[in-house]
Amino acid sequence: MAEIIGEYIDRLANLEMLDSIYPRRGKTMPLYDAARAKQGAPLTYLAAKGLIDNVKQGDYVILLSGAGISPWLEWGENDGPCGIASLARAISFGLGANPVYVGNEKELGPVIAAGMAAGISVLNREAIDVYKRKATALKVPFPLGEKGAKEKGIEILDDFNPTAVIGVEKHAPNPLGVWHTAAGQALSADTQPHVHHLVEEAKKRGIFTVGIGDGGNEIGYGLIRDEVNEVYKAQFEGTTCQCGCGGGESTATATDVLVSASISNWGAYGVSAMLAYMLGNAFILQDADTEKRMLEASVMAGSTGIIGTVPWVDRTSPGAQQAVVTLLQEMVNNGLRRTFSYGGLPQVKGVMEGALPRPKE
Ligand SMILES: [Zn+2]
Repeated sequence: MAEIIGEYIDRLANLEMLDSIYPRRGKTMPLYDAARAKQGAPLTYLAAKGLIDNVKQGDYVILLSGAGISPWLEWGENDGPCGIASLARAISFGLGANPVYVGNEKELGPVIAAGMAAGISVLNREAIDVYKRKATALKVPFPLGEKGAKEKGIEILDDFNPTAVIGVEKHAPNPLGVWHTAAGQALSADTQPHVHHLVEEAKKRGIFTVGIGDGGNEIGYGLIRDEVNEVYKAQFEGTTCQCGCGGGESTATATDVLVSASISNWGAYGVSAMLAYMLGNAFILQDADTEKRMLEASVMAGSTGIIGTVPWVDRTSPGAQQAVVTLLQEMVNNGLRRTFSYGGLPQVKGVMEGALPRPKE
């Protein structure tokens, strides 16, 4: 049953409604199909199952966020923070674990704000380790540029000994070390936190890793790098990016599970929804009112949509974000509901299926 629900949650997270000039138009399903073919099961299901199998109560889970491009997205883009906030809520309320937000300091502001709107405080280590406070996250700023990034990643893993690492809309370089926007232009490596080193080190240690993205240039897409570059080749008239580096749009960084979605936040919400279903508790997933508060909090803390500082995410309206959450809540609740109907029989497998004789006419 979980895989059936995951199938349709994947589809909801992959509904494309970007406007016609958006550079990723038409790539959602080719990227999803490639990710699905490689992994063989619904992506949100695989991510949720991996989290349930690996994360125990009291563990730390590293959440990587921030898709900023200074000065256009100075405090980060608003696709990312709400996805992280949703996962922080699901991990806290559902698994009893503690999220650790890692990213560029400026971009952590919207993540913290969205997380607080979702019900997750940010306090200090003592509150968690000594007082065992739940629904509490920590923040760890990560330096910009390559210098010291690998060491910082190792330091964070040594410090928290996390049982999962998840990136949402987190950019990373291609195998040549070149970073790209979703439109294929090169990004300055000095403006980005090189948290992909943390992911690579986590994989060496056997820590469960998940990448959630929507463009191919985020952590996780290394799993289907050749396929991503083929998808972009069609748009870029034979080249795999727009900067001429020759290394392609796709990141080098692969993760254990890649969740490819139409909008990264929706991929993360899909994983939260699967956690809610598999743990039998719809409360784990934010509702539509909470989603509205999360979006507004993220934007008021500085995050920016592609069309400006309004709570539109990847050119889709606040109403669309709430609608997706409403439908996910419906899928989880209906999946969990056990009601008596039609003659008092519970609608469970084996009872309704072919067991009832038809009344004679
Ligand atoms: Zn390039």
